[in-house]
Amino acid sequence: MAYTPDYLGYDTPKLGFGLMRLPKLEDGSIDVAQVSEMVDIFLDGVLTYFDTAYVYDSGASEEAARKALVERYPRDAYTICTKANAWLGSPTADQVKDQLRISMERLGVDYLDYYLLHAIQDNNQQAYDDFGLWDWIREQKASGLIRHWGFSFHAGPERLERLLTAYPDIDFIQLQVNYADMEEPSVQARANMEVAAAHGVPFTVMEPVKGGTLANPPRAVREVFDAAGEGCSYASWAIRYVASMPGVLTVLSGMSNVEQVRDNVSYMSSFTPLTADEMAVVAKAQEALAGVDQIKCTACHYCTDGCPMQIPIPDFFKAMNRKLIFEDEADALRRYRHTAESAGVNASDCIQCGQCEGACPQSLPIISYLARIADELE
Ligand code: SF4
Ligand code: SF4
Repeated sequence: MAYTPDYLGYDTPKLGFGLMRLPKLEDGSIDVAQVSEMVDIFLDGVLTYFDTAYVYDSGASEEAARKALVERYPRDAYTICTKANAWLGSPTADQVKDQLRISMERLGVDYLDYYLLHAIQDNNQQAYDDFGLWDWIREQKASGLIRHWGFSFHAGPERLERLLTAYPDIDFIQLQVNYADMEEPSVQARANMEVAAAHGVPFTVMEPVKGGTLANPPRAVREVFDAAGEGCSYASWAIRYVASMPGVLTVLSGMSNVEQVRDNVSYMSSFTPLTADEMAVVAKAQEALAGVDQIKCTACHYCTDGCPMQIPIPDFFKAMNRKLIFEDEADALRRYRHTAESAGVNASDCIQCGQCEGACPQSLPIISYLARIADELE
């Protein structure tokens, strides 16, 4: 099923304000004064979509949205999305359902434009099923408390196909899409977009700059964009690229300061899709990124069950990739230490039994990778 011009949110501006990484004051609370200024710039740019979640900053994100947005602008000046979470903190079914009331109180609204079941993954969909949340969220739409419903998604196309087939009345979904993850096995952005398109379901985009890493990409990628000579920020290439995809309701940028809002608004308030020449530039950037040394682990975890030392192999590889792909050694070290401490084991604890290499469908030289990680991150 192809997207039609009147699909949900056709007129939604292509940049949305993600409220997950809001600026903080020294005491750790959200800097509402700065958020208010950011909101003003965003709305002045004729942009309207705001995205938060019950769990963001333990509710402080929703509270900040009320103070910076809801209490300062008429209700028809913006749309707002929040999300119910059935797995963080292991809530009961009743507690999850009560999140809607609490979110609306925190936000100070009497209806929500968009409401999502939050971050469906392979290891948590069962909770959404067992709690009856699919029927429950439709009842909320029927009651008028929410206008559109869907789910945000962190799994592969087979699961997405099953969900969109099971719930054909879904209004929209939220997918991770960026130029680094189009073919990335652990994300499968292109394949997920194809499933959404086949069902005619539009989607909002999360992580368009991959947690900020594409705002400061590897040198080889920066050189490609610099050579294009447009003088655009690296973030703008990433955001305009995903905003050009068919089916995109809006691209959520998790903005953290006034400068980021100004930059994003400068090229997104009157967005036009990338030209064929510009798409070719991004294709070159993707090629340059593919040439960056990295561990091509798909995070399938086939290797971990039989490891006698219980080494969290894919998580160590993910940390190492922060150094290899994004030249961010400090972040690689931080992630490695956090993972090693949580698991109580280091890469150097590998006894080289070889069990994992026999199980790896990607035929990765796991033992030598672990030795390199022990050498560079321990
Ligand atoms: S080779 Fe090392 S990482 Fe692989 S299963 Fe054996 S102990 Fe675990
Ligand atoms: S089996 Fe291979 S691809 Fe899968 S998680 Fe382990 S190292 Fe990564």
